[in-house]
Amino acid sequence: SFHKSKGQHILKNPLLVDSIVQKAGIKSTDVILEIGPGTGNLTKKLLEAGKEVIAIELDSRMVLELQRRFQGTPYSNRLKVIQGDVLKTELPRFDICVANIPYQISSPLTFKLLFHQSSFRCAVIMYQREFAMRLVAQPGDNLYCRLSVNTQLYARVSHLLKVGKNNFRPPPKVDSSVVRIEPRRPQPTVNKKEWDGFLRVCFIRKNKTLGAIFKQKSVLSMLEKNYKTLQAVLASLQNNGEAAALNTTTTSMDLGDQSMGLEDDDEMDDDDEDMEMDEGQGGQASEFKEKVMNVLKEGDFEEKRSSKLSQQEFLYLLSLFNKSGIHFS
Ligand code: SAM
Repeated sequence: SFHKSKGQHILKNPLLVDSIVQKAGIKSTDVILEIGPGTGNLTKKLLEAGKEVIAIELDSRMVLELQRRFQGTPYSNRLKVIQGDVLKTELPRFDICVANIPYQISSPLTFKLLFHQSSFRCAVIMYQREFAMRLVAQPGDNLYCRLSVNTQLYARVSHLLKVGKNNFRPPPKVDSSVVRIEPRRPQPTVNKKEWDGFLRVCFIRKNKTLGAIFKQKSVLSMLEKNYKTLQAVLASLQNNGEAAALNTTTTSMDLGDQSMGLEDDDEMDDDDEDMEMDEGQGGQASEFKEKVMNVLKEGDFEEKRSSKLSQQEFLYLLSLFNKSGIHFS
């Protein structure tokens, strides 16, 4: 009896299990992290290929079944089972992650792996087909989206294997794919929150021009609020004679080479910490809008659409915004 809610679809085709293990490129010295081992069909082959398997499984019945399966075999002292939700578990150190996961945790698990502190060689993971195609999509592809850009900033991803639903018991509703995720080293230096906030705006509508997206009131008011907050902080620091120290003390914001950004600060009010968009001052709002449009113009992005932009182009546009003191987090 399998739990649908836990995404329990057991791999029943041994040839497919072999093929996954073979494509993972496991070395005999590898510590392998397996997520959702279930009854252990994949676990057994991982134990044959590597040095040690650490398996994280949510369902206590599965944990028992797994332990029973390997008890008294030469594998038992090379298998460590952790019972729990992988999303709430601190990941151990490992060389490679291999997993046939429940599809409802695809996105949070992928980012948990991408942001995992200790480095690992790669993760080989079974995903729902469409999610897999989104992960590997390139600019201009139909499924290219925020997930593609975000994932590919932190990792190289490649599609390894198409897997039909009939390889599972019970069969899920959709086909699957195995994807290889190789974290980039060194990790990119962008501010995670800044990058995420930026992509969220760019992908509000991936087929709209960036010019149209950045003219939206909601976008402009969010950016202007961030901008004014930053300007107020800079102004008060300058008043306290601490401006010089700023570049070394601020870590969360990349100020670029913008010299304090106080060129047109005539109306700056230091006490106004919590500045909202003032509906009455349309003049100021359009001034800021112009600033934003100038950034787009500078990089020739006004007529471009996110659906066709490469990761390098996104990084470049973000750097132009930051250089003008415009921030997304
Ligand atoms: N690996 C096995 C196989 O290929 O035959 C089973 C795969 S099945 C798709 C997913 C497994 O993940 C189930 O055993 C399920 O109990 C477990 N699981 C579900 N949610 C989990 C979570 N949040 N953390 C850890 N394991 C989870």
